[in-house]
Amino acid sequence: MPEPLPRLPDDLAVLVRATKGFMPEEEGLLLHRVALDRLPHGPALEVGTYCGKSALLLGAAAQAVGGTVFTVDHHRGSEENQPGWEHHDPEVVDPELGLMDTLPFFRRAIASAGLEEQVVAVVGASTTVSRHWRTPLSMLFIDGGHAEVHAQNDYAGWAPWLMPGGLLVIHDVFPDPADGGRPPYDVFVRALDSGCLTEVDALGSMRVLERTSGDAGDPVG
Ligand code: SAH
Ligand code: MG
Repeated sequence: MPEPLPRLPDDLAVLVRATKGFMPEEEGLLLHRVALDRLPHGPALEVGTYCGKSALLLGAAAQAVGGTVFTVDHHRGSEENQPGWEHHDPEVVDPELGLMDTLPFFRRAIASAGLEEQVVAVVGASTTVSRHWRTPLSMLFIDGGHAEVHAQNDYAGWAPWLMPGGLLVIHDVFPDPADGGRPPYDVFVRALDSGCLTEVDALGSMRVLERTSGDAGDPVG
C-alpha cells in the first residue's frame, strides 16, 4: 500500500492554488511528501522555479521538518513560455525589458507563505550553477527546460550530487508521446539505465527514483 498523501494546511493550499504554475495538485502533494521524508537528511534542490508553485510545497516541508530548499531558474522562461507559444502568460513579461521575469512572482509567493528562511532562490542558468555546485543533495526535483538539451543537462549536472538514498523526482514524464514531450521521459529512462537509480514511486507525470549506488559527486551515467 502506498503511503497516503499529506493534507496541506488550508492557508498554504490557498496560496499554492493562487500561484501561477504548472503543478497539478496531487502531484504537488507527492512532491511535498517526498520533501518531508528527505529534508532531514540534507538540502533539496529544484530546477525550474517559475513563480514558486512547487517551491511553496517544498518550502512548507522544510518548515515542518527543518531543512533548506534551493530553487534554480534564470526566470526568463522556457521555450514554451515565450510569446506565441502554448504556455505564455503576458502578465509575467517585464515591460521595460520585454523579457519574461517570474522572479517577482516567486518572491511574493514565498514571502506571503512565510518561507523566506527555508527557500533560497538561485538565479541563473542551470548549467552555470551546477558546474560550481559541490553540496550533496537529499532530494533533486527536475522541472526545468523541456528541450532535450536542457533536460539532459539538468540530469548530467545535478544527479551526481544526489546522496546515496537521495530521491530524484522528475516532472512531465510521459511514456506515451501523445501525452507530451519526450525529453523528461528520455531523462527518466537514462536514470534507470544508469544502474544508479531505481523507481520507487509514480503519480501522473511525476516519477520518483532513489539513488541506490555510488557516492554524491560520482558520475551517474
Ligand atoms: N516548478 C514550476 C514550473 C517550472 S516551469 C511550477 O511548479 O510551476 C520551467 C522553468 O524552468 C521556467 O521558469 C524556466 O525559466 C526555467 N528554465 C528553463 N530552462 C532553464 C535553464 N536552462 N536554466 C535555468 N532555468 C531554466
Ligand atoms: Mg513541470
